[in-house]
Amino acid sequence: MKTGRSPNTSMRNLPSVEQIAQSPVAVGIAELAGQRTTIAMIRTIIDCVRNEIADGTLYEIDRDAITGEIHRRLTETWGRTSSLGITRVINATGVIIHTNLGRSPLSEAARVAIADAAGYCTLEFDIVAGGRGGRGRVAENLVAELTGAEAALMVNNCAAAAFFVLTVFASGGEVIISRGELVEIGGDFRVPDVLSQSGATLREVGTTNRTKLADYEQAISESTRMLLRVHPSNYRVVGFTAAAELRELVELAATHGLIVYEDIGSGALIDLSRFGVTDEPTVAASIAAGVDLVTFSGDKLLGGPQAGIIAGRRAAIEKLRKHPLYRVLRIDKLRNAALEATLREYRRDAAGEVPVIEMIARTKEKIGLRAVSLVEKLTGDARKLELELVDGVSAIGGGAAPTVELPTVLLSARHTDKSASVLEYELRMGDPPVLTRIAEDRVLIDLRTVSVSEDAEILAALAEIG
Ligand SMILES: *Cc1c(COP(=O)(O)O)cnc(C)c1O
Repeated sequence: MKTGRSPNTSMRNLPSVEQIAQSPVAVGIAELAGQRTTIAMIRTIIDCVRNEIADGTLYEIDRDAITGEIHRRLTETWGRTSSLGITRVINATGVIIHTNLGRSPLSEAARVAIADAAGYCTLEFDIVAGGRGGRGRVAENLVAELTGAEAALMVNNCAAAAFFVLTVFASGGEVIISRGELVEIGGDFRVPDVLSQSGATLREVGTTNRTKLADYEQAISESTRMLLRVHPSNYRVVGFTAAAELRELVELAATHGLIVYEDIGSGALIDLSRFGVTDEPTVAASIAAGVDLVTFSGDKLLGGPQAGIIAGRRAAIEKLRKHPLYRVLRIDKLRNAALEATLREYRRDAAGEVPVIEMIARTKEKIGLRAVSLVEKLTGDARKLELELVDGVSAIGGGAAPTVELPTVLLSARHTDKSASVLEYELRMGDPPVLTRIAEDRVLIDLRTVSVSEDAEILAALAEIG
């Protein structure tokens, strides 16, 4: 197709993002993929084409041919992404509990347990008695044992658990909560909304930064059913603050015959402060403080499958189990099996086998050594990639410990001919997709969230781009 035109002419023939977006092909894709995704795809494809013109890979190409090529790539990209179902990805973002990526990666034991339970299994069958058994009893007993609670129950997720507890114990009555805890978690879980859905009335006390025991006490009336405490999870109030101790709330509730319920959210089963995670209370601490019920997620700091776990007093748990809503909210055999396997790791003091815990515990030094080894192996394969190691931080994610920054070593990559956004896109569109972050026009790879067995795939992805 050589016609004697220079790269500059070809560059001038490059259509704008808007021009492509108005074409019938793009409009058709936008109807299915949405405008934002379509524009993002077009922008990246145009960037790639611009790079290829600049480095001579695409040369002497007229306007129609360039536009045709962009349309061809757009259709191809959309075809690939739309045919992908849920696909394994490599999480190199450094965000451990990544909600968009399925929160907690499961332990080996949990994966095996899911596969085992996939056929017929003893979900509700007692092998010894040869008849019907309690659903999920093993996991429930493990939760009780690990937290010091009398009993436990599993439902779909923590949002369901909160709704369930509020409905069963506070519907038609008042729930007292501090103004500092009327939080929104993850965009679609707002404490006041869940409360109103449950049929309970919210009674706010104190102020955003300070709520004292006396504030709760003064608000107690005939219609009060419950004192509610919510762990603010994804935000923190710092500075001039005060909150009533859980123990004080328990004592106050006892003198008035009320229930104390704590929605703790992240649900750490072990103390993570030695790894720098200092502001996530353990479930055991809440139970020890005497709360009647506590709820937490299965797939946040616990590191298991999606589930909402309710732990507390036996009478309260049995009331929940007998309620018709339990039938609506209970979990399936696969998650039951995965949860059981995850909890067993904690019970045999092997929390390090749970990926979320293992990733939190990874040291900057170890992550750095892996990064060095990747760079060494790449030399020669990826000549156009400039790689360097820089200090950075990883995050817990999942609305937990928002202020915790885990020191890490980042593999920072720059391509001599490609912008960071093109590089990021090519890694993301690879097989398997490698998800990274961009800062200051460089692609950053954080091995904290990459399992050691995936290093070779990252290497291959970088070599291919190189
Ligand atoms: C995350 C969180 C929830 C919602 O949990 P899901 O398991 O995502 O439903 C509810 N309450 C608190 C305090 C949380 O941190």
